[in-house]
Amino acid sequence: MNNKQSQISVDLEFDKKHIWHPYTSMTAPLPVYPVVSANKNIITLESGENLIDGMASWWSAIHGYNHPVLNEALTNQISQMSHIMFGGITHAPAVNLCKKLIEITPEQLTKVFLADSGSVAVEVAIKMALQYWQSQNIKNKTKLMTVTKGYHGDTFAAMSICDPINSMHALYQDFLPQHIFAPAPISSFDAEFDANELNILENYFIAHHENVAAFIIEPIVQNAGGMNFYHPDYLAGLSELCDKYNVLLICDEIATGFGRTGKMFAVEHAKITPDIMCIGKAITGGYMTLSATLTSDKIAKGISEGAAGVMMHGPTFMGNPLACSVACASIDLLLASNWQNTVQDLNAWLTQFLAPCNDLEQVENVRILGAIGVVEIDKVVDVAQFQKKCIEQGVWIRPYGKLIYLMPPYITPKNDIKKLADVIYSILDI
Ligand SMILES: *Cc1c(COP(=O)(O)O)cnc(C)c1O
Repeated sequence: MNNKQSQISVDLEFDKKHIWHPYTSMTAPLPVYPVVSANKNIITLESGENLIDGMASWWSAIHGYNHPVLNEALTNQISQMSHIMFGGITHAPAVNLCKKLIEITPEQLTKVFLADSGSVAVEVAIKMALQYWQSQNIKNKTKLMTVTKGYHGDTFAAMSICDPINSMHALYQDFLPQHIFAPAPISSFDAEFDANELNILENYFIAHHENVAAFIIEPIVQNAGGMNFYHPDYLAGLSELCDKYNVLLICDEIATGFGRTGKMFAVEHAKITPDIMCIGKAITGGYMTLSATLTSDKIAKGISEGAAGVMMHGPTFMGNPLACSVACASIDLLLASNWQNTVQDLNAWLTQFLAPCNDLEQVENVRILGAIGVVEIDKVVDVAQFQKKCIEQGVWIRPYGKLIYLMPPYITPKNDIKKLADVIYSILDI
């Protein structure tokens, strides 16, 4: 190792001994790979290898890395102010961002709460729903209803509505509030819709609606809970049931928002407007942590005129100007691009290049929606093994359970999609 290298090298021993990574053990951690930089859709390891990114840093880096326009938005904002408290103060980056969010989300969503991560946006959505019913003097609506296979984040209220098995409810059983779980949607996005699903769902409403404040669901794509692409008629039917039984509808668009499914927001596939909507992940183009919870005039008015009179939440870094600035720039970039065509192209390439995986013995299903490609296999993937082989072949993919999935940055060229798909095929072809 020459001098320069040793200066920049990441202290892996320290990392292993002292630093937790997502969902890993402190005593037997999965391997981690030191990254020195990322540019466009390429991640550069300290070892000098370049990897094609198949993950967009968990849905977020839609424009790729080191984007000059996003960089500029941040550096401009830094010289104005990096942060300022949001209590009693406001600023252009937050106001501009909220204007844009109201503009691009369904029409009735007009009130915005800025928070610091997706999980917190979900917590805020839940608080809004509970406070709304309290304000209406309806005291027994204190439960949530949802479907299995969901994922809404890792904080406690969010975790309590994640899939009860996959999110390890058992670990925290006595601490978690108990909610009502209907079966996950079954009819797939482009198959025939089985209307009986809604009859089953209605039975849950009949049994529980008096105690249910809100139904929360990821619209169209259940993400980390199983990559389930379900039928828009299910979501449309759910929205009607919510109206019929006086239950609020919360749509968690944290993963699906900003074009990933082919619509700006996935609720548009079903032409519905939820009472409350959570967005996050791609909101800043993957640059900084930020989220938002939007709601309607009606819900906001209820909360504000109720017992508390205020929305009881206020993170220290609420409305952080850097995050808001880069979010504004990211949304402008997206709107100025021909993103519908881009996502359509990615969809066509993923469909074409992942198709051969269908012929492999261990592959159960290959499914594509928008710019998301999923290969489901018949057993849990050995993540460490799989990633090692990916890196040897120059790609970055992180499987989860039985799922190997791609959600590349929108700027990914056709050849790189082919390469990502070819590597998946070659690893599974044993
Ligand atoms: C990632 C995710 C969350 C949690 O967001 P964090 O920023 O990780 O807290 C919530 N809901 C959905 C649908 C997600 O994909």
